[in-house]
Amino acid sequence: METKWEFSAGGVVYRRNEEGKLEILLIRVKNRWSFPKGNIERGEPKDKAALREVKEETGVDAEVVEYLGEVDYWYSMELYRIHKFVYYYLMKYAGGEITPQKEEIDEARFFPVEEVENLLTYPTDKKIFERALNALKKLGEL
Ligand code: ATP
Repeated sequence: METKWEFSAGGVVYRRNEEGKLEILLIRVKNRWSFPKGNIERGEPKDKAALREVKEETGVDAEVVEYLGEVDYWYSMELYRIHKFVYYYLMKYAGGEITPQKEEIDEARFFPVEEVENLLTYPTDKKIFERALNALKKLGEL
């Protein structure tokens, strides 16, 4: 079977609610919660792609705080095996109402940071979330 590569970029977006509690933005596709992400366009910088995808998928504007790293996984589609790479950024919420992209996203929501680990199902998301928590600690946000 032929292998193809795909490259996406995404964001772990955080904010403080009115009570000062830290919250993280997740998207739901069918029954799985994960972080917003999407395809990097040809020639597009990864961080720009991540911000664009967060906005398109959730309606949220954000600012990049730092790069969290990449993950990769495999899946198959039709006659291809796809090796996918996703580059993630820690982002701070900057405004915008939550408006899930109709075609791709079933729901988008901010969750209290303590609830996130249990909602994530993909091992790669858990790994990126752990890095986000470390970065938030280092920044004094957690
Ligand atoms: P994108 O959001 O980057 O535009 P997409 O929606 O086309 O991409 P994916 O979200 O990568 O595609 O999903 C493609 C396949 O990979 C699906 O079968 C999905 O269940 C699976 N998948 C998605 N995320 C992961 C992951 N982190 N680890 C393993 N498999 C995943």
